[in-house]
Amino acid sequence: MNYDYDLFVIGAGSGGVRSSRVAASFGAKVAICEDRYMGGTCVNVGCVPKKLYAYASEYSSHFRDSEGFGWQISEPHFHWPTLRNHKTTEISRLNTVYDTLLDNANVEVIHGRGEIVDPHTVSVAGKTYTAERILIAVGGWPFVPEIKGKEHVITSNEVFDLEQFPKRLVVVGGGYIAVEFASIFNGLASRVTQLYRGDLFLRGFDNEVRQFAAKEIRKKGVNLHFNSDVISIEKLSDGSLKVNLDDDVSVIADAVLYATGRKPHIKGLGLENVNVRLTEDGYIDVNEQFQTSEPSIYALGDVIGGMELTPVALAEGMALAKSLYTNEICKVDYSNIATTVFCQPNIGTVGLTEEQANAEYRHVVKYRSTFRPMKHSISGSQERTLMKLLVDGDTDKILGAHMVGPDAGEIMQGLAIAMKAGATKTDFDSTIGIHPTSAEEFVTMREPVSS
Ligand code: NDP
Repeated sequence: MNYDYDLFVIGAGSGGVRSSRVAASFGAKVAICEDRYMGGTCVNVGCVPKKLYAYASEYSSHFRDSEGFGWQISEPHFHWPTLRNHKTTEISRLNTVYDTLLDNANVEVIHGRGEIVDPHTVSVAGKTYTAERILIAVGGWPFVPEIKGKEHVITSNEVFDLEQFPKRLVVVGGGYIAVEFASIFNGLASRVTQLYRGDLFLRGFDNEVRQFAAKEIRKKGVNLHFNSDVISIEKLSDGSLKVNLDDDVSVIADAVLYATGRKPHIKGLGLENVNVRLTEDGYIDVNEQFQTSEPSIYALGDVIGGMELTPVALAEGMALAKSLYTNEICKVDYSNIATTVFCQPNIGTVGLTEEQANAEYRHVVKYRSTFRPMKHSISGSQERTLMKLLVDGDTDKILGAHMVGPDAGEIMQGLAIAMKAGATKTDFDSTIGIHPTSAEEFVTMREPVSS
């Protein structure tokens, strides 16, 4: 059978772009369709603008810290439109870069939302295209629970482009996005209240890390309100929002950001026209080769769940293209994926939490260090850093590394390589540190705190 393309990719986010470019480089005839913005969530309303805003928000503490080092500066003033507009210019540049990358790779870009018509046909903007294989890489979409006044809230899709800077912000949720944005707006001098329905935010992270991070984030000025659910949100006559909570408290804000998770963005995708099975949680179910229950249709990235991270989608895209268009069958190794929550201070983590390690190994040795970073010996800041290593007492292998502190993301990437290579505590101990750094603490923790 003759098809228009070997591979038709729906969604030009991280996973879709990577798989289409690599597939084309192996000689496949590839098209990709996209209805919003090139680069998907990461480039447009995720990692990239988030990191730019995180940089912006760190300046306030840098200005404060600098006084202890002798700098005398008048009261700094933050101008939201400057940040927002510079961000928009940079994202537009990246959108063009993505277009060029696809063009140079001979991938045909089709603008519009793809709808699957049958196992080999996709319709975009009224035109149909056939392909031997279809790849669904449509990512996720913010989920907001049904609450009274839902129409007044914003999500991570809107927060970057607010017309007015919110001087008072309520953030709902206790995951990555909520914690990061609470820090960002706090750093930009907004009065931030973060509401989380459970006892302690960042469920799934190491418990000690969660507790330490909560303490540090509170010290920075974020009002963390745990065990709290929103009952309703009302718009007041002056335009501000009244957030009514289940513990009879209410909070007044200029904006309410819901960061209560993301769901697969599969509405209108035409899945009812094919035999693509979903998991219980509504993600697209795939095998190790990213193939769905409809043999000609594949899926990867956030739409299949798992660790919803850009580098994971990139790895999946690469593996799929190689498996389909070379003689090599590639599988993604999901072990020891390092990740960072870009709050202030950063939380960096790789491997098992203490709770997971104790559940899986019979003899876990824990090393921990908490200290005030050297910079703060004269900056005046009371910020502290936590570093923690979990070791298998039987084999000496490092099972988990965790950090709450400046540049934790940068530091954790190197530790992830060591752990991937099977590093032991003895390897860490025999590594000579870089002095004076915070990172050297990871190779100088000699005495276990528990075993
Ligand atoms: P997460 O799944 O991380 O967190 C969702 C949060 O919302 C949880 O605290 C959850 O509570 C809470 N929640 C869920 N439903 C409700 C509800 N009905 N009412 C109140 N609270 C609710 O989602 P995010 O939106 O923060 O991020 C999505 C994904 O994006 C992340 O999992 C991550 O993979 C990725 N991401 C990665 C980043 C990074 O690498 N730095 C940055 C941003 C996002 P509970 O814990 O009780 O379930």
